Amino acid sequence: MTCKQIILPVFLFCTVFGLKAQQPAGNWCGNTEVSPWMEWYKVHRHEFIQSRSDEMLYVPVTLQIVGKDDGSNLFAFDKGIQAVCGMNERFAEANIGFYLVPGDPVRYHHNSAWYEHTFPVGAQMIQENNIPDRLNAYVVGDPAGNCGYSWFDAIVLKIGCSSDNNMTWSHEAGHHFSLPHPFSGWENTDWNYAQPAPSTVGDNRLVERMDGSNCENAGDFFCDTPPDYLNDRWQCNNNQQSEQLQHDPNNVAFRSDATLIMGYASDACQSRFTPEQIAAMRANLQSQHASYLQVSELGPGVDDDLHAQLLSPIDSHIVQYNNFELVWNAVPNATVYVVEVFLTPSMSVQNRVFYKTLYNETSISVAQALPNNRTLYWRVRVYNEWDVCNPNNNMQTGIFKTRNISATNELERVVTADLSPNPVSAGLPARLNISSDVTMNAKLHVMDAAGRVCMQQELRIYPGDNQLEIETTSLQAGIYIISVQNEKGMLLKRLAIAE
Ligand SMILES: [Zn+2]
Repeated sequence: MTCKQIILPVFLFCTVFGLKAQQPAGNWCGNTEVSPWMEWYKVHRHEFIQSRSDEMLYVPVTLQIVGKDDGSNLFAFDKGIQAVCGMNERFAEANIGFYLVPGDPVRYHHNSAWYEHTFPVGAQMIQENNIPDRLNAYVVGDPAGNCGYSWFDAIVLKIGCSSDNNMTWSHEAGHHFSLPHPFSGWENTDWNYAQPAPSTVGDNRLVERMDGSNCENAGDFFCDTPPDYLNDRWQCNNNQQSEQLQHDPNNVAFRSDATLIMGYASDACQSRFTPEQIAAMRANLQSQHASYLQVSELGPGVDDDLHAQLLSPIDSHIVQYNNFELVWNAVPNATVYVVEVFLTPSMSVQNRVFYKTLYNETSISVAQALPNNRTLYWRVRVYNEWDVCNPNNNMQTGIFKTRNISATNELERVVTADLSPNPVSAGLPARLNISSDVTMNAKLHVMDAAGRVCMQQELRIYPGDNQLEIETTSLQAGIYIISVQNEKGMLLKRLAIAE
Protein backbone atom coordinates (compact mmCIF):
# COMPACT_ATOMS: atom_id res chain seq x y z
CA MET A 1 0.00 0.00 0.00
CA THR A 2 1.71 3.17 -1.15
CA CYS A 3 0.26 5.34 1.57
CA LYS A 4 2.73 3.80 4.01
CA GLN A 5 5.47 5.73 2.28
CA ILE A 6 3.73 9.01 2.76
CA ILE A 7 5.35 11.00 5.51
CA LEU A 8 2.51 11.76 7.84
CA PRO A 9 2.42 14.97 9.76
CA VAL A 10 2.36 14.71 13.52
CA PHE A 11 -0.66 16.36 15.05
CA LEU A 12 -1.44 16.63 18.67
CA PHE A 13 -5.04 15.56 18.90
CA CYS A 14 -5.84 18.35 21.28
CA THR A 15 -5.04 20.96 18.65
CA VAL A 16 -7.24 19.56 15.92
CA PHE A 17 -10.08 21.92 16.59
CA GLY A 18 -7.81 23.49 19.12
CA LEU A 19 -7.74 26.44 21.37
CA LYS A 20 -7.96 28.94 18.57
CA ALA A 21 -11.30 27.47 17.54
CA GLN A 22 -13.93 30.14 17.69
CA GLN A 23 -16.78 29.36 19.98
CA PRO A 24 -19.92 30.52 18.26
CA ALA A 25 -23.34 30.77 19.76
CA GLY A 26 -24.73 28.86 16.77
CA ASN A 27 -27.60 26.49 17.34
CA TRP A 28 -26.72 23.54 15.21
CA CYS A 29 -23.10 22.54 14.93
CA GLY A 30 -20.30 24.20 16.86
CA ASN A 31 -17.52 23.65 14.32
CA THR A 32 -15.96 26.60 12.56
CA GLU A 33 -12.31 25.71 11.92
CA VAL A 34 -10.54 23.63 9.30
CA SER A 35 -8.36 21.03 11.03
CA PRO A 36 -4.57 21.09 10.54
CA TRP A 37 -4.86 17.55 9.17
CA MET A 38 -7.23 18.78 6.46
CA GLU A 39 -4.82 21.59 5.56
CA TRP A 40 -2.17 18.91 5.11
CA TYR A 41 -4.46 16.51 3.23
CA LYS A 42 -5.43 19.29 0.79
CA VAL A 43 -1.88 19.19 -0.51
CA HIS A 44 -1.27 15.42 -0.35
CA ARG A 45 -4.68 14.02 -1.28
CA HIS A 46 -3.66 12.72 -4.70
CA GLU A 47 -1.11 10.40 -3.14
CA PHE A 48 -3.91 9.00 -1.00
CA ILE A 49 -6.38 8.58 -3.82
CA GLN A 50 -3.92 6.26 -5.56
CA SER A 51 -3.78 4.07 -2.48
CA ARG A 52 -7.50 4.00 -1.89
CA SER A 53 -9.03 0.67 -1.18
CA ASP A 54 -12.52 -0.53 -0.52
CA GLU A 55 -11.70 -2.66 2.47
CA MET A 56 -13.96 -2.06 5.46
CA LEU A 57 -12.51 0.25 8.10
CA TYR A 58 -13.97 -0.40 11.55
CA VAL A 59 -14.19 2.33 14.19
CA PRO A 60 -14.51 1.42 17.89
CA VAL A 61 -16.87 3.68 19.86
CA THR A 62 -17.45 4.22 23.57
CA LEU A 63 -20.52 6.21 24.58
CA GLN A 64 -19.95 8.68 27.40
CA ILE A 65 -23.45 9.36 28.68
CA VAL A 66 -23.71 12.40 30.93
CA GLY A 67 -26.65 13.05 33.27
CA LYS A 68 -27.28 15.53 36.07
CA ASP A 69 -25.63 15.36 39.49
CA ASP A 70 -28.48 13.23 40.87
CA GLY A 71 -28.17 10.70 38.04
CA SER A 72 -31.31 11.88 36.26
CA ASN A 73 -31.72 12.73 32.55
CA LEU A 74 -29.27 10.07 31.30
CA PHE A 75 -29.64 9.27 27.59
CA ALA A 76 -30.95 5.71 27.22
CA PHE A 77 -28.10 3.37 26.29
CA ASP A 78 -30.16 1.53 23.68
CA LYS A 79 -30.92 4.87 21.99
CA GLY A 80 -27.15 5.31 21.76
CA ILE A 81 -26.83 1.84 20.23
CA GLN A 82 -29.44 2.85 17.65
CA ALA A 83 -27.57 6.10 16.94
CA VAL A 84 -24.38 4.11 16.24
CA CYS A 85 -26.43 1.82 14.00
CA GLY A 86 -27.65 4.94 12.17
CA MET A 87 -24.02 5.94 11.54
CA ASN A 88 -23.40 2.48 10.09
CA GLU A 89 -26.17 3.04 7.56
CA ARG A 90 -24.93 6.50 6.58
CA PHE A 91 -21.26 5.45 6.33
CA ALA A 92 -21.99 2.18 4.47
CA GLU A 93 -21.14 3.80 1.13
CA ALA A 94 -17.76 4.79 2.62
CA ASN A 95 -17.07 1.22 3.79
CA ILE A 96 -16.65 2.59 7.29
CA GLY A 97 -18.33 0.63 10.10
CA PHE A 98 -18.81 1.45 13.78
CA TYR A 99 -18.94 -0.94 16.71
CA LEU A 100 -18.99 -0.47 20.48
CA VAL A 101 -15.84 -1.39 22.37
CA PRO A 102 -16.46 -4.92 23.71
CA GLY A 103 -16.60 -4.85 27.50
CA ASP A 104 -16.50 -1.03 27.56
CA PRO A 105 -19.41 0.15 25.40
CA VAL A 106 -20.69 2.89 27.70
CA ARG A 107 -19.57 5.00 30.63
CA TYR A 108 -21.93 7.10 32.72
CA HIS A 109 -21.22 10.45 34.36
CA HIS A 110 -23.38 12.32 36.85
CA ASN A 111 -22.36 15.94 36.42
CA SER A 112 -24.82 18.78 35.91
CA ALA A 113 -22.08 21.19 34.77
CA TRP A 114 -21.15 18.79 31.95
CA TYR A 115 -24.79 17.95 31.21
CA GLU A 116 -25.47 21.57 30.21
CA HIS A 117 -22.09 23.05 29.41
CA THR A 118 -20.26 25.98 27.91
CA PHE A 119 -17.37 25.36 25.52
CA PRO A 120 -14.64 25.69 28.20
CA VAL A 121 -16.47 23.21 30.45
CA GLY A 122 -17.02 20.90 27.46
CA ALA A 123 -13.29 20.98 26.78
CA GLN A 124 -12.61 20.07 30.41
CA MET A 125 -15.17 17.23 30.25
CA ILE A 126 -13.51 15.76 27.17
CA GLN A 127 -9.96 16.10 28.45
CA GLU A 128 -10.84 14.48 31.76
CA ASN A 129 -12.64 11.53 30.26
CA ASN A 130 -11.40 10.78 26.74
CA ILE A 131 -10.25 7.21 26.27
CA PRO A 132 -7.52 6.82 23.61
CA ASP A 133 -7.75 4.76 20.42
CA ARG A 134 -11.50 4.95 19.99
CA LEU A 135 -14.21 7.44 19.05
CA ASN A 136 -15.54 8.98 22.26
CA ALA A 137 -19.17 10.06 21.82
CA TYR A 138 -20.45 12.26 24.66
CA VAL A 139 -24.21 12.57 24.95
CA VAL A 140 -25.38 15.54 27.02
CA GLY A 141 -28.42 17.77 27.51
CA ASP A 142 -26.92 20.94 26.03
CA PRO A 143 -23.55 21.06 24.28
CA ALA A 144 -22.90 24.81 24.42
CA GLY A 145 -26.12 25.69 22.62
CA ASN A 146 -25.51 23.34 19.67
CA CYS A 147 -26.94 20.08 18.38
CA GLY A 148 -23.39 18.82 18.53
CA TYR A 149 -19.74 19.58 17.92
CA SER A 150 -16.48 17.79 17.20
CA TRP A 151 -13.59 19.05 19.28
CA PHE A 152 -10.53 17.78 21.17
CA ASP A 153 -10.78 14.50 19.29
CA ALA A 154 -14.26 13.64 20.52
CA ILE A 155 -17.78 14.23 19.34
CA VAL A 156 -20.39 15.75 21.65
CA LEU A 157 -24.07 15.25 20.92
CA LYS A 158 -27.25 16.77 22.30
CA ILE A 159 -29.85 14.26 23.52
CA GLY A 160 -32.54 16.23 21.69
CA CYS A 161 -30.67 15.79 18.37
CA SER A 162 -29.95 12.06 18.78
CA SER A 163 -33.12 10.30 17.67
CA ASP A 164 -33.36 7.81 14.79
CA ASN A 165 -33.96 10.41 12.09
CA ASN A 166 -31.28 12.89 13.19
CA MET A 167 -28.08 13.22 11.15
CA THR A 168 -26.16 14.87 13.99
CA TRP A 169 -24.02 11.85 14.91
CA SER A 170 -22.95 11.24 11.30
CA HIS A 171 -22.32 14.97 10.73
CA GLU A 172 -20.09 15.27 13.81
CA ALA A 173 -18.31 12.00 12.97
CA GLY A 174 -17.65 13.53 9.53
CA HIS A 175 -15.97 16.49 11.26
CA HIS A 176 -14.08 14.05 13.50
CA PHE A 177 -12.66 12.46 10.34
CA SER A 178 -11.61 15.93 9.11
CA LEU A 179 -14.50 17.06 6.89
CA PRO A 180 -15.29 20.79 6.91
CA HIS A 181 -18.77 22.13 6.17
CA PRO A 182 -19.41 22.55 2.42
CA PHE A 183 -19.92 26.25 3.28
CA SER A 184 -16.62 26.33 5.16
CA GLY A 185 -15.42 29.90 5.60
CA TRP A 186 -18.98 31.28 5.75
CA GLU A 187 -19.60 30.27 9.37
CA ASN A 188 -20.83 33.32 11.31
CA THR A 189 -20.98 35.49 8.16
CA ASP A 190 -24.09 37.54 7.38
CA TRP A 191 -24.59 38.04 3.66
CA ASN A 192 -27.20 39.35 1.25
CA TYR A 193 -27.41 36.37 -1.14
CA ALA A 194 -28.98 38.49 -3.87
CA GLN A 195 -25.52 40.03 -4.34
CA PRO A 196 -22.61 38.29 -6.10
CA ALA A 197 -20.42 36.74 -3.39
CA PRO A 198 -17.07 38.34 -2.61
CA SER A 199 -13.96 36.47 -3.74
CA THR A 200 -12.90 35.80 -0.16
CA VAL A 201 -14.89 35.41 3.03
CA GLY A 202 -14.27 35.03 6.77
CA ASP A 203 -10.62 34.54 7.63
CA ASN A 204 -9.44 35.31 4.07
CA ARG A 205 -10.93 32.06 2.71
CA LEU A 206 -11.48 31.66 -1.04
CA VAL A 207 -15.13 31.55 -2.09
CA GLU A 208 -15.94 28.52 -4.25
CA ARG A 209 -17.14 29.28 -7.79
CA MET A 210 -19.69 27.47 -9.91
CA ASP A 211 -17.17 26.86 -12.73
CA GLY A 212 -15.11 24.69 -10.34
CA SER A 213 -11.98 26.75 -11.04
CA ASN A 214 -10.97 27.01 -7.36
CA CYS A 215 -12.77 24.02 -5.87
CA GLU A 216 -9.65 22.39 -4.42
CA ASN A 217 -8.78 25.47 -2.38
CA ALA A 218 -12.17 26.97 -1.53
CA GLY A 219 -15.12 25.95 0.62
CA ASP A 220 -14.55 22.44 1.94
CA PHE A 221 -11.74 21.84 -0.62
CA PHE A 222 -13.73 19.12 -2.44
CA CYS A 223 -14.68 19.47 -6.09
CA ASP A 224 -17.65 17.11 -5.92
CA THR A 225 -19.42 19.27 -3.34
CA PRO A 226 -20.74 22.29 -5.24
CA PRO A 227 -20.64 25.84 -3.84
CA ASP A 228 -22.72 26.43 -0.72
CA TYR A 229 -22.75 29.62 1.35
CA LEU A 230 -25.63 28.79 3.72
CA ASN A 231 -24.46 28.82 7.33
CA ASP A 232 -27.81 28.49 9.08
CA ARG A 233 -30.37 25.67 9.07
CA TRP A 234 -32.45 25.51 5.90
CA GLN A 235 -35.25 23.45 4.35
CA CYS A 236 -34.88 21.77 0.97
CA ASN A 237 -37.22 21.94 -2.02
CA ASN A 238 -38.49 18.93 -4.00
CA ASN A 239 -35.24 18.83 -5.98
CA GLN A 240 -33.25 18.39 -2.78
CA GLN A 241 -31.83 21.89 -3.15
CA SER A 242 -32.02 25.07 -1.12
CA GLU A 243 -34.93 27.43 -1.64
CA GLN A 244 -32.37 30.21 -1.19
CA LEU A 245 -30.77 31.29 -4.44
CA GLN A 246 -27.15 32.39 -4.13
CA HIS A 247 -24.68 34.05 -6.52
CA ASP A 248 -21.02 33.16 -6.85
CA PRO A 249 -18.32 35.84 -7.34
CA ASN A 250 -18.97 35.68 -11.13
CA ASN A 251 -22.67 36.35 -10.40
CA VAL A 252 -23.66 32.81 -11.46
CA ALA A 253 -26.86 31.86 -9.61
CA PHE A 254 -27.13 28.49 -7.87
CA ARG A 255 -28.88 26.58 -5.10
CA SER A 256 -27.13 24.47 -2.44
CA ASP A 257 -27.14 20.64 -2.50
CA ALA A 258 -29.37 19.50 0.38
CA THR A 259 -28.29 15.86 0.31
CA LEU A 260 -24.89 16.52 1.89
CA ILE A 261 -24.67 15.31 5.49
CA MET A 262 -21.97 17.93 6.16
CA GLY A 263 -24.25 20.81 5.11
CA TYR A 264 -26.95 22.59 7.10
CA ALA A 265 -30.05 21.39 5.25
CA SER A 266 -32.59 19.91 7.67
CA ASP A 267 -32.01 16.28 8.62
CA ALA A 268 -34.72 14.85 6.37
CA CYS A 269 -32.99 16.30 3.27
CA GLN A 270 -29.57 14.84 4.09
CA SER A 271 -28.41 11.41 3.00
CA ARG A 272 -24.84 11.18 1.73
CA PHE A 273 -21.14 11.80 1.69
CA THR A 274 -19.52 12.43 -1.70
CA PRO A 275 -16.68 10.25 -3.11
CA GLU A 276 -14.09 12.95 -2.31
CA GLN A 277 -15.42 13.34 1.22
CA ILE A 278 -15.28 9.56 1.60
CA ALA A 279 -11.69 9.46 0.33
CA ALA A 280 -10.70 12.13 2.86
CA MET A 281 -12.39 10.33 5.76
CA ARG A 282 -10.74 7.04 4.84
CA ALA A 283 -7.36 8.76 4.52
CA ASN A 284 -7.88 10.38 7.90
CA LEU A 285 -8.74 7.02 9.46
CA GLN A 286 -5.62 5.48 7.96
CA SER A 287 -3.34 8.24 9.20
CA GLN A 288 -4.46 10.58 11.98
CA HIS A 289 -6.83 7.97 13.41
CA ALA A 290 -4.91 4.84 12.46
CA SER A 291 -5.01 3.71 16.09
CA TYR A 292 -8.74 3.13 15.64
CA LEU A 293 -8.11 0.39 13.09
CA GLN A 294 -7.75 -2.54 15.46
CA VAL A 295 -9.90 -5.17 13.78
CA SER A 296 -10.28 -6.13 10.15
CA GLU A 297 -13.59 -7.87 10.74
CA LEU A 298 -16.28 -7.67 13.38
CA GLY A 299 -16.66 -10.31 16.09
CA PRO A 300 -19.71 -12.55 16.25
CA GLY A 301 -23.03 -10.75 16.50
CA VAL A 302 -26.38 -11.97 17.74
CA ASP A 303 -28.13 -14.32 15.33
CA ASP A 304 -31.07 -12.34 13.92
CA ASP A 305 -33.29 -15.43 14.21
CA LEU A 306 -32.68 -15.77 17.94
CA HIS A 307 -34.56 -13.91 20.66
CA ALA A 308 -34.59 -13.82 24.42
CA GLN A 309 -36.78 -16.64 25.67
CA LEU A 310 -38.98 -15.19 28.42
CA LEU A 311 -39.17 -17.39 31.52
CA SER A 312 -41.37 -15.46 33.93
CA PRO A 313 -43.87 -14.00 34.31
CA ILE A 314 -45.64 -15.39 31.24
CA ASP A 315 -49.03 -16.94 30.40
CA SER A 316 -50.99 -14.23 32.25
CA HIS A 317 -49.47 -15.14 35.60
CA ILE A 318 -50.31 -12.78 38.42
CA VAL A 319 -47.56 -10.73 40.07
CA GLN A 320 -47.45 -8.26 42.93
CA TYR A 321 -47.88 -4.93 41.09
CA ASN A 322 -45.05 -3.15 42.91
CA ASN A 323 -42.58 -5.97 43.54
CA PHE A 324 -41.80 -8.77 41.10
CA GLU A 325 -39.01 -10.15 38.95
CA LEU A 326 -38.68 -10.45 35.18
CA VAL A 327 -36.53 -13.41 34.09
CA TRP A 328 -35.37 -14.58 30.66
CA ASN A 329 -32.79 -16.88 29.10
CA ALA A 330 -29.38 -15.66 27.95
CA VAL A 331 -29.06 -15.34 24.16
CA PRO A 332 -25.79 -16.57 22.61
CA ASN A 333 -23.36 -13.64 22.13
CA ALA A 334 -25.82 -11.07 23.49
CA THR A 335 -24.47 -8.67 26.13
CA VAL A 336 -27.07 -5.88 26.14
CA TYR A 337 -30.64 -6.67 27.17
CA VAL A 338 -33.29 -3.95 26.87
CA VAL A 339 -36.34 -4.81 29.00
CA GLU A 340 -39.64 -3.04 28.41
CA VAL A 341 -43.13 -3.39 29.93
CA PHE A 342 -46.18 -1.91 28.19
CA LEU A 343 -49.84 -1.27 28.93
CA THR A 344 -51.03 -2.55 25.56
CA PRO A 345 -49.98 -5.33 23.16
CA SER A 346 -49.08 -2.75 20.50
CA MET A 347 -46.02 -1.95 22.66
CA SER A 348 -45.64 1.66 21.62
CA VAL A 349 -43.31 3.93 23.57
CA GLN A 350 -46.28 6.11 24.59
CA ASN A 351 -47.67 3.33 26.78
CA ARG A 352 -44.41 1.95 28.11
CA VAL A 353 -44.48 1.73 31.92
CA PHE A 354 -41.07 0.19 32.61
CA TYR A 355 -37.77 0.41 30.70
CA LYS A 356 -34.27 -0.68 31.64
CA THR A 357 -31.09 -1.57 29.75
CA LEU A 358 -28.96 -4.27 31.37
CA TYR A 359 -25.48 -5.55 30.62
CA ASN A 360 -24.88 -9.31 30.80
CA GLU A 361 -27.86 -9.86 33.10
CA THR A 362 -30.87 -12.09 32.57
CA SER A 363 -33.26 -10.90 35.25
CA ILE A 364 -34.37 -7.71 36.94
CA SER A 365 -36.36 -6.98 40.08
CA VAL A 366 -39.08 -4.40 39.54
CA ALA A 367 -39.54 -2.55 42.82
CA GLN A 368 -41.65 0.35 41.59
CA ALA A 369 -45.44 0.49 41.41
CA LEU A 370 -46.69 -0.46 37.94
CA PRO A 371 -50.38 0.02 37.08
CA ASN A 372 -52.34 -2.35 39.29
CA ASN A 373 -55.16 -4.66 38.19
CA ARG A 374 -53.91 -4.58 34.63
CA THR A 375 -52.76 -7.00 31.97
CA LEU A 376 -49.22 -5.94 30.99
CA TYR A 377 -46.96 -6.96 28.11
CA TRP A 378 -43.17 -7.27 28.20
CA ARG A 379 -40.33 -8.00 25.84
CA VAL A 380 -36.53 -8.08 25.74
CA ARG A 381 -34.42 -6.68 22.90
CA VAL A 382 -30.82 -7.92 22.58
CA TYR A 383 -27.64 -6.46 21.15
CA ASN A 384 -23.93 -6.92 21.47
CA GLU A 385 -21.06 -4.52 20.89
CA TRP A 386 -20.28 -5.86 17.41
CA ASP A 387 -23.91 -5.97 16.37
CA VAL A 388 -25.54 -2.60 17.02
CA CYS A 389 -28.10 -3.01 14.24
CA ASN A 390 -29.79 -6.21 15.40
CA PRO A 391 -33.38 -5.74 14.12
CA ASN A 392 -34.91 -7.79 16.97
CA ASN A 393 -37.70 -8.84 14.64
CA ASN A 394 -38.70 -12.04 16.38
CA MET A 395 -39.18 -10.94 19.93
CA GLN A 396 -41.39 -12.97 22.24
CA THR A 397 -44.14 -11.14 24.13
CA GLY A 398 -44.71 -12.04 27.77
CA ILE A 399 -48.14 -11.38 29.28
CA PHE A 400 -48.82 -11.02 32.98
CA LYS A 401 -51.35 -9.47 35.35
CA THR A 402 -50.72 -7.14 38.24
CA ARG A 403 -52.54 -7.46 41.55
CA ASN A 404 -52.02 -6.30 45.08
CA ILE A 405 -51.46 -9.83 46.37
CA SER A 406 -50.42 -8.57 49.79
CA ALA A 407 -53.81 -6.86 50.22
CA THR A 408 -55.72 -7.86 53.34
CA ASN A 409 -59.17 -7.61 51.72
CA GLU A 410 -60.80 -7.89 48.32
CA LEU A 411 -61.22 -4.12 47.86
CA GLU A 412 -57.47 -3.57 48.26
CA ARG A 413 -56.85 -6.29 45.70
CA VAL A 414 -58.93 -4.68 42.94
CA VAL A 415 -58.42 -0.98 43.69
CA THR A 416 -55.38 1.19 44.35
CA ALA A 417 -55.54 4.68 45.74
CA ASP A 418 -52.99 7.53 45.82
CA LEU A 419 -53.35 10.71 47.79
CA SER A 420 -51.50 13.88 46.78
CA PRO A 421 -50.21 16.31 47.75
CA ASN A 422 -49.60 14.78 51.15
CA PRO A 423 -49.10 16.71 53.38
CA VAL A 424 -51.49 19.25 51.90
CA SER A 425 -51.64 22.91 52.96
CA ALA A 426 -54.78 23.79 54.93
CA GLY A 427 -57.45 25.21 52.63
CA LEU A 428 -56.14 23.54 49.48
CA PRO A 429 -57.78 20.38 48.10
CA ALA A 430 -56.03 16.97 48.29
CA ARG A 431 -56.55 14.70 45.29
CA LEU A 432 -57.50 11.06 45.77
CA ASN A 433 -56.74 9.04 42.65
CA ILE A 434 -58.52 5.67 42.63
CA SER A 435 -57.54 3.13 40.01
CA SER A 436 -59.94 0.24 39.46
CA ASP A 437 -60.68 -2.39 36.85
CA VAL A 438 -64.37 -2.72 37.72
CA THR A 439 -67.36 -0.44 38.35
CA MET A 440 -68.47 -0.25 41.99
CA ASN A 441 -70.07 1.93 44.62
CA ALA A 442 -68.27 2.85 47.83
CA LYS A 443 -68.41 5.26 50.76
CA LEU A 444 -65.71 7.77 51.48
CA HIS A 445 -65.09 8.90 55.06
CA VAL A 446 -62.67 11.51 56.36
CA MET A 447 -61.94 10.96 60.06
CA ASP A 448 -59.82 12.92 62.48
CA ALA A 449 -57.20 11.36 64.77
CA ALA A 450 -59.84 10.68 67.43
CA GLY A 451 -61.94 8.70 64.92
CA ARG A 452 -64.66 11.35 64.53
CA VAL A 453 -66.17 11.45 61.02
CA CYS A 454 -65.58 14.96 59.62
CA MET A 455 -66.86 14.37 56.09
CA GLN A 456 -68.53 11.57 54.15
CA GLN A 457 -69.52 11.05 50.55
CA GLU A 458 -71.00 8.38 48.24
CA LEU A 459 -68.64 7.32 45.46
CA ARG A 460 -69.23 5.78 42.05
CA ILE A 461 -65.94 4.22 40.90
CA TYR A 462 -65.45 3.46 37.21
CA PRO A 463 -62.84 1.26 35.46
CA GLY A 464 -59.56 3.15 34.95
CA ASP A 465 -58.45 6.24 36.87
CA ASN A 466 -60.96 8.14 39.04
CA GLN A 467 -60.01 11.52 40.49
CA LEU A 468 -61.66 12.92 43.56
CA GLU A 469 -60.93 16.21 45.33
CA ILE A 470 -61.03 16.27 49.12
CA GLU A 471 -61.74 19.80 50.35
CA THR A 472 -59.81 20.79 53.46
CA THR A 473 -61.28 24.26 54.04
CA SER A 474 -63.36 23.05 56.99
CA LEU A 475 -60.56 20.93 58.47
CA GLN A 476 -57.95 22.05 60.99
CA ALA A 477 -54.27 21.20 60.60
CA GLY A 478 -53.52 17.67 61.78
CA ILE A 479 -53.63 14.01 60.78
CA TYR A 480 -56.75 12.52 59.16
CA ILE A 481 -57.71 9.05 57.98
CA ILE A 482 -59.38 8.70 54.59
CA SER A 483 -61.32 5.47 54.17
CA VAL A 484 -62.97 4.01 51.09
CA GLN A 485 -65.33 1.22 52.03
CA ASN A 486 -67.90 -1.15 50.53
CA GLU A 487 -68.98 -4.80 50.77
CA LYS A 488 -65.59 -5.94 49.35
CA GLY A 489 -63.62 -4.38 52.19
CA MET A 490 -61.86 -1.21 53.21
CA LEU A 491 -58.94 0.88 52.02
CA LEU A 492 -57.27 3.37 54.35
CA LYS A 493 -55.03 6.36 53.61
CA ARG A 494 -53.43 8.78 56.02
CA LEU A 495 -53.64 12.50 55.15
CA ALA A 496 -51.59 15.21 56.85
CA ILE A 497 -52.95 18.79 56.70
CA ALA A 498 -50.26 21.38 57.33
CA GLU A 499 -50.83 24.90 58.73
ZN1 LIG B 1 -20.80 20.88 11.55
